[in-house]
Amino acid sequence: MQELDRVNVQFVKGVGPRRAELFRAIEVGTVADLLSYYPRRYEDRRQISRVSQLEDGQEATVRCKVMAIGNKRVGPSMTIFQVALSDGTGVVYGTWFNQPYLESRFKPGQELILTGKVQRHRQLQIVSPEYEVLGAGGDTLNTGRIVPVYPLSEQLTQRTVRQIIHNCLHAYSGKGADPLPAELRGELRLCALPEALWNIHFPETPAALEAARRRLVFDELLPVQLAILLKKRQLARKSGSSKRSSGKLLEAFLGSLPFTLTGAQTRAIAEIRADMEKESPMNRLLQGDVGSGKTVVAVAALLIALDAGYQGVLMAPTEILAEQHWRTIQALLAPLGVPRHLLIGDMEDGEKASVREALKKDTPAIVVGTHAVIQGQVEFGRLGAIVVDEQHKFGVAQRARLKAKGVNPDVLVMTATPIPRTLALTLYGDLDISLLDELPPGRGEVTSHEVPPGEIEEAYRFIRDEVAKGSQAYIVYPLINENETLPLGAATEMAARLKRDHFPSLGVGLIHGRMERGEREAVMREFREGRIQVLVATSVIEVGLDIPRACIMLVEHAERFGLSQLHQMRGRIGRGGRRSYFFYSGRPASEEAQKRLAALARTTDGFAIAELDLSLRGPGEFFSGRQHGGPDLKLADLLRDEKLLRQARAVAERIVAGDPMLVMEQHAELRRILVRRYQGRFSLGVTG
Ligand code: ADP
Ligand code: MG
Repeated sequence: MQELDRVNVQFVKGVGPRRAELFRAIEVGTVADLLSYYPRRYEDRRQISRVSQLEDGQEATVRCKVMAIGNKRVGPSMTIFQVALSDGTGVVYGTWFNQPYLESRFKPGQELILTGKVQRHRQLQIVSPEYEVLGAGGDTLNTGRIVPVYPLSEQLTQRTVRQIIHNCLHAYSGKGADPLPAELRGELRLCALPEALWNIHFPETPAALEAARRRLVFDELLPVQLAILLKKRQLARKSGSSKRSSGKLLEAFLGSLPFTLTGAQTRAIAEIRADMEKESPMNRLLQGDVGSGKTVVAVAALLIALDAGYQGVLMAPTEILAEQHWRTIQALLAPLGVPRHLLIGDMEDGEKASVREALKKDTPAIVVGTHAVIQGQVEFGRLGAIVVDEQHKFGVAQRARLKAKGVNPDVLVMTATPIPRTLALTLYGDLDISLLDELPPGRGEVTSHEVPPGEIEEAYRFIRDEVAKGSQAYIVYPLINENETLPLGAATEMAARLKRDHFPSLGVGLIHGRMERGEREAVMREFREGRIQVLVATSVIEVGLDIPRACIMLVEHAERFGLSQLHQMRGRIGRGGRRSYFFYSGRPASEEAQKRLAALARTTDGFAIAELDLSLRGPGEFFSGRQHGGPDLKLADLLRDEKLLRQARAVAERIVAGDPMLVMEQHAELRRILVRRYQGRFSLGVTG
């Protein structure tokens, strides 16, 4: 057995030092990399059509000789390049528009494979076909079979790479250890590794390709799940973080609420309390759609820590949200006499210093803040619980820094971005999950409407009418780029224009992320108290804001926002008893953008929206800043491969339960892969 991830690709027949450079440029450095350099797609060239039998509209592949080539100028800005081809049964033209440089690629006498849609109008032609120049002699890799098409750079041709990978399969496909024990392969009906490798590159049939894919996808998913479970297990073995107490503060708090908890909230708080009483630290995700009432649960968690004599932190991604939480906490906790502090960047230095002084002591207290709480100078005397609100807005590093400020603190991360279940297993597989799947009663219905271009004034009129009946409204403009000042100009200018032209008798305010704290607080206060009725905003209002009386939102240039983001924004309304209206206008640039916006009007189900977002945009968005999952997945598609993911999870659970250090002979290769890939992120006893 050889460790193929340590064999330089240079030693594969046909590569050599010069091509090794080219391969390195596409991140193929070792034999293992090359074997997992999977085709982008396949072309079925088992059926080569005769030119004489081509029919109009048919997708076909032909194998022909180049007879002649030529460029034609057919207009001031249009050229047509054509290749006349023959296979002996007839003549067909390959046609390309505005690609005159193709002339240098073809020579009479060459043999070509051409794939595309056949047209039979004045002449028989294939427009913008896929093409490949064949070499001399009997070519078995490039024709007469299902042919792999690789994602390639300019200097490497399909033919070369096919040949090299073919050589590599011959030399190495049977040399590496199979990470899956034979027994497991049998149980899951997965093919052996060499077979899978051959068939992913050079499948005999579509069925063989599918079997290969299943096997290799499983191979990608299993180590990720193992890593997640090992990390989780490691955390569970830490101790000394039990927070047992009479729960006096918690009970007083729950008793003082002006409403009854939903069943889901009660359940979540019970789960959190049970976690926090345990010796091992809590590591839990609280997932609940916008408006499901996560803040109350967060405060409960902080109070459980306080009851046991610890400090608790609530970290929010924006100052506006931190300030709102601060207000909520002031209102709810002042009567209970709970020591509490606010810590955000935009505070007087003296003020900040005195908060820091207070936190250094080991007296119980609650701190609400932004990332200001993870700054270097901030030290906690006795940090016991951490709650991260809107956690998807933070990076892994930021959460880790906060965690490092305590000794095995309990951690609760909260998110209103509903993560599709498949993705949750990969992204948050190391966390326990509490779900708020129930909205508090008495919420008004939210309906969504697209505003057609040219009818925006209708929306303004609607806002005027509704405000006259006691509503308030948000009007949102996108920040084109976080660092650009220009679009703030757009929001600022729009606020002035809206006031002048459309809402002369109303209070119009403006809020954005770069305002001074005093100014921002004043605007939010006026909006909350109803003196501002129309709040013009950037996407800074996306997360967290809770103004029950605001029940209209108009988002302009909606195409600039992601679907989940729009859903979050829509979550700002429908928080009171009134019926709420969400309007959006925009000029979607593509069909996809159009689809996205239409979906928004169709459903308010955050999970459905997240699934759609995932299928339209891929998981990249969700993976940003996460350590595991994304980059290790080449073939796996988290939507399509849900069943395999569940199987991988189950297998990983079994392996971790029976052989947590992966010391058994049949787990040797898995262990090696994990040590190599996740070195240092968790311990397998020995480092490799
Ligand atoms: P989110 O989950 O979006 O963070 P919030 O915590 O901001 O939701 O809660 C939304 C609103 O619902 C707040 O005004 C909050 O006071 C209110 N709320 C929370 N729980 C309940 C409940 N059980 N019954 C009634 N209102 C509630
Ligand atoms: Mg919230």
